[in-house]
Amino acid sequence: MWQVIGHEAAVGLLARGLKRERLSHAYLFVGPPHVGKMTLAIELAKALNCDDDERPCGQCSQCQRIAERKHADVQVIGLDGRAEIGIDHIREMQHAASLRPFEGRHRVFIIDGAENLSHEAANCLLKTLEEPPPQVQLILLAVNERLLLPTVLSRCQKLTLGPLPIPVIEQALIERWKVAAQRAKILARLSSGRLGWALAAFADEHILNQRSERLSTLIHLASADKVERFAYAAQLANRFSSDREAVRDVLCLWIGWWRDLLLIKGRCGDFTANADQEATLYPEAGVYSLREIKGFIQSLEQAMGQLDQNANPRLVLEVLMLSMPKRSFQTMDTSLPEA
Ligand SMILES: [Zn+2]
Repeated sequence: MWQVIGHEAAVGLLARGLKRERLSHAYLFVGPPHVGKMTLAIELAKALNCDDDERPCGQCSQCQRIAERKHADVQVIGLDGRAEIGIDHIREMQHAASLRPFEGRHRVFIIDGAENLSHEAANCLLKTLEEPPPQVQLILLAVNERLLLPTVLSRCQKLTLGPLPIPVIEQALIERWKVAAQRAKILARLSSGRLGWALAAFADEHILNQRSERLSTLIHLASADKVERFAYAAQLANRFSSDREAVRDVLCLWIGWWRDLLLIKGRCGDFTANADQEATLYPEAGVYSLREIKGFIQSLEQAMGQLDQNANPRLVLEVLMLSMPKRSFQTMDTSLPEA
């Protein structure tokens, strides 16, 4: 039993490959943060090493040690607080890959955030991708495949993991994680289809508090002057140098917020992602014109693309701040539906 919620196509493909012993030696799982890429990678590692006939059983000592992240043959290589995954980490991995499995049948290497591989590290990895040692399985996880070298991309079989339907998340939270129905409903809506996010927010109150703070900042900036907006851009740009993901998270949250304003304008308020913020969203939607909202969503998407392409973060974020529509009550749109 694969312990994966949703992602049926990807699980089906891997299960069939396993049965026919025709798995690709390298996979690339692509999808938004917390959508389930690591869970699927761990399940594949279990399936490759499981002692049972029905793999992965989830019960044998191989499966359990992998689930507890104690298995000597399953390694996760990630940023761990560094700015990039360097060549030394890939060389260490290659050395480990040249050794026979220690306690299982396959050595599995999961590269978490493959877009963070340095150029040298990615080139070094090519050797393993071209001539993988037997009994070695590589799994690359990435949010943005455009940031990978084409030579790396072409040597991996890609599986795309999209956001899950909101009802699927809600049901899983209630049934598997015993979350109270009302809380499950809110968390599922806020998750934008990312079960990992919903579970993290369920376990850690701080995540929801941080999200509320970030939204308050966003709302405040809309009526702030240029000086204050630029000060915020500088702060965010500083953060970007040490923690890209955090800045991406902020911008994703902003896109979600402005999309919600668009939905309310289009009289589709039942589908907003920020379900717990309706009391603020409806009046905010009345402040901006449709054109302003659409324009700023485009600016946000453009800014994210530019940051991914390594443009100067300070410059990108300053331009973004300038393009944020200024809250002005004279532009109140009276055609807004009743909240
Ligand atoms: Zn097992």
